[in-house]
Amino acid sequence: MSPREALFPNYAPYPIRLVRGEGSHVWDAAGQMYIDVMSGVAVTALGHAPAPVTEALVTQLHTLWHVSNWFEIPQQERFAQTVTARCCGDHVFYCNSGAEANEAAIKLARRYHRKIKGNDKYKIITFTQSFHGRTMATLSATGQEKVKEGFEPLLPGFVHVPYNDMEALEAAVDAQTCAIFLEFVQGEGGVTVAEETFVAAIQRLCAQYDMLLIADEIQSGVGRTGRWFAYEYYGIEPDIITMAKGIASGFPMGMMVGKAKLKDAFSAGAHGSTFGGTPLACVAAQATWETIEREQLLLRAHELGQWAIQHMQQSLQHVEEVVAVRGRGLMVGIELTFPAAHVVTACHHHGVLCITAGTHVLRLLPALNIPEPLWRQAVDIIIEQIQHVRATQPTKNTV
Ligand code: PLP
Repeated sequence: MSPREALFPNYAPYPIRLVRGEGSHVWDAAGQMYIDVMSGVAVTALGHAPAPVTEALVTQLHTLWHVSNWFEIPQQERFAQTVTARCCGDHVFYCNSGAEANEAAIKLARRYHRKIKGNDKYKIITFTQSFHGRTMATLSATGQEKVKEGFEPLLPGFVHVPYNDMEALEAAVDAQTCAIFLEFVQGEGGVTVAEETFVAAIQRLCAQYDMLLIADEIQSGVGRTGRWFAYEYYGIEPDIITMAKGIASGFPMGMMVGKAKLKDAFSAGAHGSTFGGTPLACVAAQATWETIEREQLLLRAHELGQWAIQHMQQSLQHVEEVVAVRGRGLMVGIELTFPAAHVVTACHHHGVLCITAGTHVLRLLPALNIPEPLWRQAVDIIIEQIQHVRATQPTKNTV
């Protein structure tokens, strides 16, 4: 039995073994260097081994790793203040992953309606092509059938509506709907941006039917789109925000942030997590957010993203296999008429790590602090590889 056979085969990894990283560069076991423009799927927001985060972690490693939530944890309080000062939420719940953050949001929304409002609302509207996680509740919330196969029966109470379809949304809402669960930029679903009129309709319906708006910012949050959160582009305030991936530069952390009116729905004992908000995770997160601010990385993400989208749109405008180049900030998608995995593999051979979103979208999620020349170099390699791979495709224009 090969050593890999000791693992469940639930992942199908590329045959690359990364052993070291520094900034936006990583090296494999054979010494090959790559430019990383996927960041562990939007996780290593400051690149690999960023010094301020490493220093904060090392100091904390020598002091105190884990404290149970049976005790007060000052690092949690400090970071919660940092977060609530930068988003529209007032109270924080800590966990360890995106799915856990979304699980907490689903529980909070239902409990708020039952315990605080005293009604029987429980249904949650989510959208086709959405991705909310792999636990049973978040899988049930997810709007993609392929990840649900074989896990039935799923949890009841989730209604899936086509993304950016106002009429379908209006038709789906009823008196038992307690929340709308939205990715303002769908990540796994294909880097699709919510339309302004659609978000305006969501806002109107939430007010009209007394529903909560939950923003899944697991992938789009923490500066990825050029603002702290993607919802900021729409001038609205979600009731609940979930985040994970980039919060602590790769140290596992998830968070759910909710508005003040929701506070009493999570009374003592209502929810919890053994590892949620350890001092280690909190100092890593604190150092990450301070670095994003000190180095003005929101503006940078916006500018580098805008440049890349425009540059690719221009360079690939005559390539008929390129359906669209879209995104916000450093969350960029290139929709192709052929499987994007072919381009990913070609890029690997040319020293660039990128990723797919669904089958036909190539996704770029570089570190927010990727040096500009390196980003330009990586984008040009990707353009070249799209042009090269499209020439080898047997059929054209068959999405
Ligand atoms: N929500 C969104 C938008 C995501 O992109 C992901 C992961 O890709 C999740 C939730 C689940 O996060 P995790 O894998 O940390 O549980």
